[in-house]
Amino acid sequence: MTARIVVVEDEPAIRRGVVDVLRVSGYQVDEAADGKTGLDLSTSSPVDLVLLDLLLPQMDGLEVLRGIRKKQPTLPVIILTARGSEDDRVRGLRLGADDYVVKPFSAKELLARVEAVLRRSPHRATEVLQARLGHAKLDLKRGEVRWGKESSAELSDTEASLLRYLIQHRERIVTRDELLLWVWGVSPDYLETRTIDMHVARLRAKLRDPSGKTVPDAVVTVRGRGYMASPDLQPAEAPR
Ligand code: CA
Repeated sequence: MTARIVVVEDEPAIRRGVVDVLRVSGYQVDEAADGKTGLDLSTSSPVDLVLLDLLLPQMDGLEVLRGIRKKQPTLPVIILTARGSEDDRVRGLRLGADDYVVKPFSAKELLARVEAVLRRSPHRATEVLQARLGHAKLDLKRGEVRWGKESSAELSDTEASLLRYLIQHRERIVTRDELLLWVWGVSPDYLETRTIDMHVARLRAKLRDPSGKTVPDAVVTVRGRGYMASPDLQPAEAPR
């Protein structure tokens, strides 16, 4: 899968340079010349990485970063900073930026940082293919849940992706907006978050063992905030 990168930089020459380098290296790139557009682009569709200048018209980079963090707590962000603006760099890292590069930078340096940050990103983590929930076995690749030898049920692609996403981010609460973006692939502006609640309810019902044997809850609802994988939902090694 090609990583999608948003470049937010108001200096046309620098922006062009960065965009070209990334495209030539095979990345899918969207660009913004001001902070507001940059924030919109970064939070309204599935994005793997944001390259963010700090001095920007309309909304400065630190504000953009704050906005991104609110909606996408783990979306990787690399700050593009000018030499000498150390305060901003420190503030950016404190606000949760993953790394920074100092302008002017070489194409080689930029690509090295981009690759390193993408490698560490939970969004690009190894796919979870198998999971366990009590005595139930979940095959998230084939979309199947099994209770013992006899009984099984099919999981839809969306249900499997939802479980996979929650497992990949198991250490934190995942918001409904985030699920819309990463599981459904749509902007929260286009689909109601209630859709997610309905899917979760259906998924919970589907994961009940038809024989009546108790299976723990797979998904925990965190009131007013979102969902989390339950401690009983565990990734499992694929049988060889
Ligand atoms: Ca600038």
